[in-house]
Amino acid sequence: MQKVLVSFRFFNEWIKFLKDNGLEVKAWDSPVPPSKIWIKENISDADGLLCSLVNRIDREVIDAAKKLKVISTFSVGYDHIDVNYAKSKKIRIGYTPEVLTDATADLIFGLILAVARRIVEGDRLIRFGKWNQPWTPDFMLGTEVNGKVLGIVGMGRIGKALIKRAKGFGMKVIYNSRTKKDVDAEFVDLDYLAKESDFVVLAVDLNPTTYHIVNKDFIEKMKRSAFLINASRGKVIDETALTEALKLGKIRGAALDVFEEEPISSDNPLIKLENVVLTPHIGSATYETRQKMAEVSVKNLLAGIKGEQMIYEL
Ligand code: NAP
Repeated sequence: MQKVLVSFRFFNEWIKFLKDNGLEVKAWDSPVPPSKIWIKENISDADGLLCSLVNRIDREVIDAAKKLKVISTFSVGYDHIDVNYAKSKKIRIGYTPEVLTDATADLIFGLILAVARRIVEGDRLIRFGKWNQPWTPDFMLGTEVNGKVLGIVGMGRIGKALIKRAKGFGMKVIYNSRTKKDVDAEFVDLDYLAKESDFVVLAVDLNPTTYHIVNKDFIEKMKRSAFLINASRGKVIDETALTEALKLGKIRGAALDVFEEEPISSDNPLIKLENVVLTPHIGSATYETRQKMAEVSVKNLLAGIKGEQMIYEL
């Protein structure tokens, strides 16, 4: 019997699906991810690995695997896997693009609106009993989204889905990517994007060229009235530089779904800032999308084990 290792808490019905397909399944069952030692011990005789972004699949883990044919990740991002090393060992890699694009783009728009229109701040105000003045024309003013410039860094699947939404909100879109794309938006360099955007959204994958792509220099170039939104990976922003800039009012606000350290530590200074909206890495977290991701990742895993074509392979 072929064996698969599931190294994060996964849906029971999809574990059953793997078993019904004749596989022996060893599955981790806690929200706290397993140690590297546990993964190394259990991957040694596994034919397939189903992992997520909470697992670091580095050389050491890959070297511990003696029969591994496939790594299937329950994510579109693959910065947690040493892809080149795995491929050099003839291990195939499956991932879940496309199926989470719309859910993530929707969340990003939610973040844009939430931070610009102070939605979460208003909710806090009511809950903490601080809504104690009648309506006045200057109360809780936010920033209009319509007519503003949206600067998208990274014009991939999510970037393109953002253009569609931005048009509906009457925004002008500019973007930067490594390569120019055939999209209804203006291709600009990163400096120009930083200077001209009212909303900067990061939609890049995490790779050596995007690590801290938003740093002190970038933020210095942004308008004081601008907002920064990130639902890609935490490490694309220098969080210390961002926190400092927010404290000093160098930009108006930020909305973040991802962080350099996750879960965010309770003494992270971002938590204390009013002009920041924080969500706990929920970009793709809808019932519908997580089911699609489960189906794709499980089918990728099965295809990898059987030597068949995967739905999405790196
Ligand atoms: P994608 O289609 O691969 O798009 C990534 C884009 O980033 C590409 O267009 C690429 O440009 C661009 N890029 C890479 N390096 C760059 C650089 N140095 N400068 C400018 N642009 C650069 O990926 P996607 O499906 O849109 O997803 C993007 C990322 O979002 C994922 O990798 C994942 O980490 C994250 N994500 C997060 C959540 C969440 O829950 N918060 C959900 C889904 C995805 P080229 O095409 O020119 O190479």
